[in-house]
Amino acid sequence: MRVSWRQRIRFALAELLYGSGRSRRRVAPALRRRRPHVVYVLGLHRVLSPEQERQAHSLPGMVMRAPTFARLLEFLVQNFRVLSLDEFLSGDFEPRDGRPACLITFDDGWRDNYTVAFPLLQQYRLPATIFLATGFIGTDRTFWPEQLIRAWPDPVLRERIRQRAATAGGTAHKELEALIESLKHRPAARREEILQPLAETVGGANGDALLSWEEAAEMARAGIRFGSHTVTHPLLTYEDEATVRYELSVSRQQIEAKLQQPVRAFAYPNGDWNPQVRQRVQDAGFECAFTVRSGVHRADDDPLTVRRFLFHEGCVVGRDGNFSAAVTRFRLAWGR
Ligand SMILES: [Zn+2]
Repeated sequence: MRVSWRQRIRFALAELLYGSGRSRRRVAPALRRRRPHVVYVLGLHRVLSPEQERQAHSLPGMVMRAPTFARLLEFLVQNFRVLSLDEFLSGDFEPRDGRPACLITFDDGWRDNYTVAFPLLQQYRLPATIFLATGFIGTDRTFWPEQLIRAWPDPVLRERIRQRAATAGGTAHKELEALIESLKHRPAARREEILQPLAETVGGANGDALLSWEEAAEMARAGIRFGSHTVTHPLLTYEDEATVRYELSVSRQQIEAKLQQPVRAFAYPNGDWNPQVRQRVQDAGFECAFTVRSGVHRADDDPLTVRRFLFHEGCVVGRDGNFSAAVTRFRLAWGR
C-alpha cells in the first residue's frame, strides 16, 4: 500500500486518540454524553473477494475487500446498535448498552452485495439497506466510470474521449480520475454524447455487474431492505424537473413491483442535492433521503438530507493494510 503524508498523519492521530485499550469505547460514551439521539449512517458501494477485485474496474473509493468488511461488521456488532431501516424511520435512536445507533447502507446495487456482502451480513445477523439504480438491475450493463476505466488502456479510444470532452467545453484532463470527476458534473445527455465511443467498443458488464432482480428478491426475503437510487443514476442537480420526477417515481415503482416491499428511502446519486431536488424527493413520497455529507444524523435533523460516512477500504485499514479499529473510530469521530 502506498501511504501518503495525509494518511501517515491520519494513522498517527488515530493511534494516539483511539489506539490504546484504555480508549476502546471512546467514541460511544463521548458522543452519548453530548448528544444522545444520533445515528452513524455508513455508506458503502462494493465488497469484493480477491478474485472479483482482479476483474473489477471501480475507483478505490468504491471498494472494500471482503476480509476488511467482515472485520468491520465484527466491530459494528461490538460497538454499535445496528438499526434496520424501519427502526431508523421510527426515529428510535436510543443507544443500547452504551452502544450508539448505526445504519448500514449500500449504493447502486452491485452484484457483489449479493455474492460477498450478503452472506457476511447474515453471518453477523445484521440488517442493511441497498439503494438500487433500477435501470441497471437485471441487465448486462454497468456504469460509465467502470466502462471508461476498462477502456482507458486503449490509447486510441482514450485520446478520442479526451478530445470529445475538451471540445464539449471541459478541459482536456490527462488523469483518469479528474476526467471522471468532471464528466460526473454534467447533464447525463451531454455526458453520453462525449462517451459515445465507449458504447461502440466496450460491451457487457463483465467484472462490474449489477444485481439481478432474482438476487435482490432473495435478499428481500431474508430481510434486506431496498431503496431508490434513481433509474439511470444522473446527478439530479444537473437535470430538469421532468427528468427528476421520472427518475424518482419510476425507480420507486420498479422496486415496489419487483420486490413487493414499500420503498420509503432514497439515496441521491453522488450525494448531490439542492432545495429543488429535495422538494421533488419529498413530493415523490420518500420518507428519508441520504446524502454523502460526512457526519452523524441527529433525531431532529432533516430526514431528507441525512448525512453518511462513506466507507471504503482506505477509510478503515491501518498501516499494515488490515482493518484497524483505531482508524475506523477516527473516521467516525472526525469524518476523515
Ligand atoms: Zn451511486
